[in-house]
Amino acid sequence: MSEQYDAIVVGGGVMGTATALELANRGRHTLLLERFAFGHARGSSGGPTRIFRFTYEHPDYVRMAGPALDAWRELEDASGERLLYTTGGIDIGEGGRRSADARVAAGAPFAWLTPEATMERWPGLVIAPGTPVLLQEQGGVCMAERTVRAQARVAMDAGATMREETVVRAIDRRGDGVQLTTDRGDTYTAPVAVVTAGPWAGPLLRTAGIDLPLVPSFEQVTYCRLAGEPHPFPHHHRLVGRIDAGSPERRRRIDERPVCPAQP
Ligand SMILES: Cc1cc2nc3c(=O)[nH]c(=O)nc-3n(C[C@H](O)[C@H](O)[C@H](O)COP(=O)(O)OP(=O)(O)OC[C@H]3O[C@@H](n4cnc5c(N)ncnc54)[C@H](O)[C@@H]3O)c2cc1C
Repeated sequence: MSEQYDAIVVGGGVMGTATALELANRGRHTLLLERFAFGHARGSSGGPTRIFRFTYEHPDYVRMAGPALDAWRELEDASGERLLYTTGGIDIGEGGRRSADARVAAGAPFAWLTPEATMERWPGLVIAPGTPVLLQEQGGVCMAERTVRAQARVAMDAGATMREETVVRAIDRRGDGVQLTTDRGDTYTAPVAVVTAGPWAGPLLRTAGIDLPLVPSFEQVTYCRLAGEPHPFPHHHRLVGRIDAGSPERRRRIDERPVCPAQP
């Protein structure tokens, strides 16, 4: 089989499905090829949740966060699914100071919380006196795998061709465009290919003559089973600095709580 498209996206994680959706919305004849099934657990976009935040150390990311929130809400409207939950978020310690500097540089407002006010709002946290805590009220948690599936579905509704269980083996430059060859020997051509292959990108890009010094790293995610009702938690703790349990009495009360320790 050989087909021609305006654009071909390789890799259907969160980046690839978002790219295919945007291309289709712009009226491009779009093909996305994914080696597994949308929402699989082997790539970076697997798992139930990810953090959505407004605090970054570079002002460019701060500036992009606002339009990103609008895009999340548009996706929710288009898919009919709730995908982003606003929980509020905090940056604790020196990382909070750096994020505040970036917000100042981007002209974005921000607020500090005292450790006492933070612990009152989120009783599962224990923060040493004097620790800076930067608050982002609109921070939240997004549904990772559900978002990938939702984007794939909405992209298809918008006219994109989405093929799962299809491995791209090679990308060859041909004239003004590219030709992609799959594991089944099918070929697809387009003026442009967008490679969003995550940790697989290095070897694939080499077939197109692009040699990037990419090093995949394995990131371990740990989930804790709670013994009882969880305390409400903000979404983000950047623990640069020291947190301790305070007085022995407070530490005893904390130790007895059926909560999952904060994840750095
Ligand atoms: C443990 C962990 C926690 C994270 N936490 C956060 C967080 O809280 N907030 C946040 O914003 N970000 C977070 N990130 C980062 C975020 O999840 C990633 O940046 C994002 O998921 C990357 O998506 P991707 O589409 O680029 O890659 P992937 O999801 O890896 O997608 C790549 C896709 O390409 C496909 N593919 C590869 N090669 C081929 C081929 N040859 N042919 C066809 N298909 C191919 C793969 O099957 C895969 O589906 C976290 C990442 C990890 C790993």
